[in-house]
Amino acid sequence: MSKVLIIGAGGVGRVVAHKCAQLPDVFSEICLASRTKSRCDQIASELKRPIQTEQVDADDVPQLVALIRKFEPRLVINVALPYQDLTIMDACLETGVDYVDTANYEPLDTAKFEYKWQWAYQDRFKEAGLTALLGSGFDPGVTNVYCAYAQKHLFDEIDYVDILDCNAGDHGYPFATNFNPEINIREVSANGRYWEAGEWKETRPMEIRWDFDFPEVGEKAAYLLYHEEMESLAQNIKGLKRIRFWMTFGQSYLTHLNCLINVGMTGIEPVEFQGQKIVPLQFLKALLPDPASLGPRTTGKTCIGCLIEGRKDGQAKKVFIYNVCDHQECYRETNAQGVSYTTGVPAMIGAKQILEGQWRQPGVWNMEQLDPDPFMDDLNKYGLPWKVIDMAGVKTFAG
Ligand code: NDP
Repeated sequence: MSKVLIIGAGGVGRVVAHKCAQLPDVFSEICLASRTKSRCDQIASELKRPIQTEQVDADDVPQLVALIRKFEPRLVINVALPYQDLTIMDACLETGVDYVDTANYEPLDTAKFEYKWQWAYQDRFKEAGLTALLGSGFDPGVTNVYCAYAQKHLFDEIDYVDILDCNAGDHGYPFATNFNPEINIREVSANGRYWEAGEWKETRPMEIRWDFDFPEVGEKAAYLLYHEEMESLAQNIKGLKRIRFWMTFGQSYLTHLNCLINVGMTGIEPVEFQGQKIVPLQFLKALLPDPASLGPRTTGKTCIGCLIEGRKDGQAKKVFIYNVCDHQECYRETNAQGVSYTTGVPAMIGAKQILEGQWRQPGVWNMEQLDPDPFMDDLNKYGLPWKVIDMAGVKTFAG
């Protein structure tokens, strides 16, 4: 029986609140806090059991500390934005509670996400006897656990990992993002990067394309991007020779994005406009549909998985471990579309592992560093069932 504080009431926060509320034996009391309290109240009104709601500015450590002292949770699930990771970790250390997030810290003024800032908390969490679980969404998150599961059960040696993320959903808008537009556009407009033979190799944005045949979804154009889980997996999957990340985009999304990049609308440097400074990307966010509003209109499926190659018992082996999620089924259960669902469910499951003790281990951890088995079992139980299929004979993009 444990109290949990959820911070952030966007699309992902909605799913986390719904899923935690479904498990009263694990999450005995829930508080949902965010910058705009009315959004927390709206989510609370959708649930079958009462939860507490609060207003908080998660950039402000004293406010967070006051809230944590008032509610006294055992754990905080941070599903606000990556900019708030460090302040929330500081508040957890000050108050002695465990921490879970879904995206690594990124400074507001530099579009460069790296784990170094959060890994720097390792000693402080260890000394305080507290657990910080980093990146417990789908990717990062489930994809890291798929790799750990493959390392533990399916392979003796892993050579290559390709993480493939396909959202084949259709929301009917010519251009919209399925999670926070600012974070999404910062991610996809950055240079691509992958890790091979011990070093990082850089590509131009969307330079490399692979038409991959996704199970239950079909062939889609996937583009090589940098994604944060590669940084920890390159360190933690023993003997790995190469890891890449691919995400699919439809032609309409790419045409609009290229145009927006070309006219400077995705910039993060403030510009002078009619006597005030505005950040183009933040202004663009204000014009785009709120990702939380896409739920009722999104149809189709997501398919996210890891294509893993290596050897088992001396034989070459290649498998795809993946989940397929249906946007409308997610909406019926949680009032949210599949991208929020596939992120929010693992955040709940990560918190559950810590509260139940299987993953309670002082320090700062990436998902693949912990035992994958209880997490993989819970994925099957709580809405994200996975499959492993043999991919022998399927060609991997050679580059
Ligand atoms: P949204 O933009 O929909 O929601 C973010 C929420 O955080 C909003 O409710 C917002 O408040 C709140 N917030 C922002 N700043 C503050 C602050 N200073 N103090 C308190 N609350 C604040 O984003 P999503 O729900 O789509 O995404 C949530 C997180 O999940 C992001 O970090 C994202 O990067 C991550 N993510 C991870 C994925 C994965 O697979 N690992 C995939 C998708 C997302 P307000 O309502 O006032 O704007």
